[in-house]
Amino acid sequence: MSEFEEVDGSVRNRVLVVDDSPTTNAMMEGVMLDAGYETRCVFNGAEAIKLVNEWAPSVILLDLIMPGMGGLEVCEEVRRLELPRRPSIIIVSSESDNDIVVGALSRGADDFVMKPFNESELLARITSQLRISDFYCEVEEDNRSLETILDITCAVTATLDTVEVLDTIVMRVAEVMKADRCSIVLVAKENEGYILAAHDNPEMHEKKVNLDKYPEITEAIEKRAPVILEDMLNHPLMSKVRNTIGNLGGMSVLIVPIVINDTVLGTLFLRTKRKESGFTKKEIEFCQVVANSSFHSIKNARLFAEVSREKEKLRELAVTDQLTSLYNHNYFYQRLSDELEGAHRYGTAIALLMMDIDDFKHINDTRGHRTGDAVLREISECIKSCVRQTDIVARYGGEEFAIILPHTTLESGVEKAVMLKEVVAEQAFAGLAKGEITMSMGIAAYDHATKVMNAGDLVNEADNALYMAKHSGKNCIKCSND
Ligand code: GH3
Ligand code: MG
Ligand code: MG
Repeated sequence: MSEFEEVDGSVRNRVLVVDDSPTTNAMMEGVMLDAGYETRCVFNGAEAIKLVNEWAPSVILLDLIMPGMGGLEVCEEVRRLELPRRPSIIIVSSESDNDIVVGALSRGADDFVMKPFNESELLARITSQLRISDFYCEVEEDNRSLETILDITCAVTATLDTVEVLDTIVMRVAEVMKADRCSIVLVAKENEGYILAAHDNPEMHEKKVNLDKYPEITEAIEKRAPVILEDMLNHPLMSKVRNTIGNLGGMSVLIVPIVINDTVLGTLFLRTKRKESGFTKKEIEFCQVVANSSFHSIKNARLFAEVSREKEKLRELAVTDQLTSLYNHNYFYQRLSDELEGAHRYGTAIALLMMDIDDFKHINDTRGHRTGDAVLREISECIKSCVRQTDIVARYGGEEFAIILPHTTLESGVEKAVMLKEVVAEQAFAGLAKGEITMSMGIAAYDHATKVMNAGDLVNEADNALYMAKHSGKNCIKCSND
């Protein structure tokens, strides 16, 4: 960073000379240029205001008495302007009256130098003003950082919504750091990450990323320390992925690991336009504080995701039969009631098919229970592959199955049963001979012409039909109205 360059890229060595005397102007210009300052000279107040706006000098050497707008008016006007950096105003005047000096200082000037000025004194005063204004800038920067940290802390305590917290963090950090992109990446496994929040894409939550493509993130995780690449594209760390980051020339990145007690949860990722001056120590520290404050939110996000997955698994377990992965008895009844209610309300038909493997005890007795289990599993697969996605296949009991067929009449149900019986007859289950396994089936149906039924009624009807099938010699299909 050059001696005069500012953190935010603005130039700190600009001196504006405002004096109606061409001789004084020329003299001051010479002194300033010799001292290495970039200098501009104007001859009246209006021009001075214009340049303050357009050129943003850090120091203004200002004459008091000028035609038109006087020095004091310029002073006041400058202080009214909204400027990115507060310029220091040094009055350079031959007026020595105490009241005038006090008046100028109270109206926004920072210092007063008598004409004819002493060259080294003037330069020393400029240096001193620059020191003070640097301090101002630092305080302002600290203020902004503190405000952001406060904002984030408020967001963390005000809401349990992790997404909201992480969004606040990336938005505020991007704003303060003038980042092109700011995101928080959760580290799930060695090379698997999830973008939890990205300031330039608020919709992006939990996007999976392959961390092999982000060597800078992996490096920060391994080192458990911030990683800074001033020129991302040409940094040796990025050599393996250079062809994929071609459009990111002229960018700098800062990655801060989110780590507490040696546990790395993720990283705060920042990309900005390339900074010759680099990231300052303060900026890095600021990002570390923010990164740490996001630790618990990310931990919550991870826990929440785990709990949701567990819940989903439990929900699935609660409705699934373990041997066959079909729906279980409880779920079957629940769904049958729901489907019946829907069928009643919308005047649609619904068929129920109950099936029982014939002489299954014999299979168990002669081939063993393991073969029996395999038959149950394979026959379940077979049934599932024969029905529609919207049909509900359940294991009703030991070797009994039930299929709820929504939007299906008794006739269509029978067709489905015939088809199933044929498929079963054609298949060799669990190493048994083809046709060795047969099934008996009973069908009942509800349609809007039928009197209102509950699930138990419909099951009884289908069960009676199945009973008839068994008593008619098995391996056959019977309807509730047969
Ligand atoms: P039917 O033709 O009259 O239906 O005769 P069946 O032998 O199939 O009927 P029964 O009700 O007499 O016997 C059912 C058999 O199914 C007895 C039971 O051990 C067996 N079974 C029930 N659940 C399982 C299971 O999970 N695995 C195995 N291997 N067998 C089971
Ligand atoms: Mg049986
Ligand atoms: Mg049985």
